[in-house]
Amino acid sequence: MPAFEYLVLKLNTLQSEVEFEFLPIDSQLPFIKALAPNAVLPMTDFKEMAPEFVNALDQNVTHLCHEYGLRAETPSHYVFLSLASLDSHWYELWETRYSAVFLGEWLDTMAPPSLLEFMLTMVMIEGISSLIGTDINRISHLATRGCIADFNSTIRDVRYKTLQGFICRDCMRTLVRKIGTKRANNWIFILTKSWIGEISQPSSPASVVAKLGYNLFITKGLNPSWKERFFQSLREEGITELIKIVGALLLAAFLLWFGIKK
Ligand SMILES: [Zn+2]
Repeated sequence: MPAFEYLVLKLNTLQSEVEFEFLPIDSQLPFIKALAPNAVLPMTDFKEMAPEFVNALDQNVTHLCHEYGLRAETPSHYVFLSLASLDSHWYELWETRYSAVFLGEWLDTMAPPSLLEFMLTMVMIEGISSLIGTDINRISHLATRGCIADFNSTIRDVRYKTLQGFICRDCMRTLVRKIGTKRANNWIFILTKSWIGEISQPSSPASVVAKLGYNLFITKGLNPSWKERFFQSLREEGITELIKIVGALLLAAFLLWFGIKK
């Protein structure tokens, strides 16, 4: 999805600790098929398949780099982002070489934020978690503070940490110890997503994303519904479009009336 990929890659321009990248993946692989939207996957199956898949990915990346004559470099951490869900209802798994986010239980009623922003923040959290390393499990807290390390037993509560992008005092202390105050503060700025800007600013990421087909201020899911398309069209075309629609409705009513009279 271009809008999502653009926003994730935009993160590379805002900080230098984590380099986000997308890799070519064969969508026909059984592991990828098992993560298809709305699929429900036993957690034990996923945990069994994922390490094997990570090894295969490493080998494939090395092979492709060799084929194209490129510098072979495998990622230090993989993130699987899926619209499937686990039978255990866990929405996030963290292991040394990979983490996985399952958004199959996300519903429109959980917006704001939109699913796209939700996914973007989760990718940021995975990036920050990779900086914290194995300490990430120790900082995860039961209380919902709207902090990136909130435990959250259901995906509904995850909205707070994805909406406001906050790092609580305890977690900030750990992050500062790992990367220093200046860089940690920069991550707080990135998490607020204020850098996305407004659609009315032509060079802002929000405007670019709108040109890529996603209105961050109207659309809730991954693709706009007919109602969201209608409101987006009204915003873009303004009153002219509304007059056209009202005109078309009046004409339809007149033709109907004419038909009945006859
Ligand atoms: Zn915290």
